[in-house]
Amino acid sequence: MQEYKWDGKIYEYGSAILKQKTELVINDKQLRLNLVEILKSALYLNSKMQGLALPQLGIPLKGITCISNGKQMFMFNPIITKQSKIIRVSNESCLSVKGRYYVKRPEYINVVYEDIEGRKQIIKETYPHSRIICHEIDHLNGICLPDIGSPTDK
Ligand SMILES: [Zn+2]
Repeated sequence: MQEYKWDGKIYEYGSAILKQKTELVINDKQLRLNLVEILKSALYLNSKMQGLALPQLGIPLKGITCISNGKQMFMFNPIITKQSKIIRVSNESCLSVKGRYYVKRPEYINVVYEDIEGRKQIIKETYPHSRIICHEIDHLNGICLPDIGSPTDK
C-alpha cells in the first residue's frame, strides 16, 4: 500500500492537480488513517480555514475535511445526492486562491460519503455548512472559486 506524505505545500489555482478529477479512495483503513492524518495536520496549520480537500495538498484522491459544529469531519468519496432550489450567494475564500469570490450555493444539501471505517453515512447539512462541503467537493471535481464565482473586489 502506498503511503502518502504531505510536503507542507498548498497547491494554488492554476496547478494541474486542482483542475483534474480525483480518484475514489479505496476501502483500506491504513490508507484512510494516513489521509486523515494529512488532512488534520494541514487544517491545524491553517486553522482559519473551515475546510480542505486532498487535491489542495497535492493528493488527487476524493477526501475532504471540514469543521461542522466545532468538530472536524472527514469524508471519503462524498457525493451530493440532493440540493435545495433555494440558493444563497456566499462570499468565500480558499487557501488555493487569492482574493474572495461570490458564489451561489444551495441552502441545504444531502451528502452520501464514507467514513474512516468505510461505512456509508448520509447527512443533511444546512447553510453555512452546506456551503463549505460544496466548496470542498468542487475541488474533487477540478473546480475552484474563479471557475464558478465572481471576485468581490471587481
Ligand atoms: Zn478551496
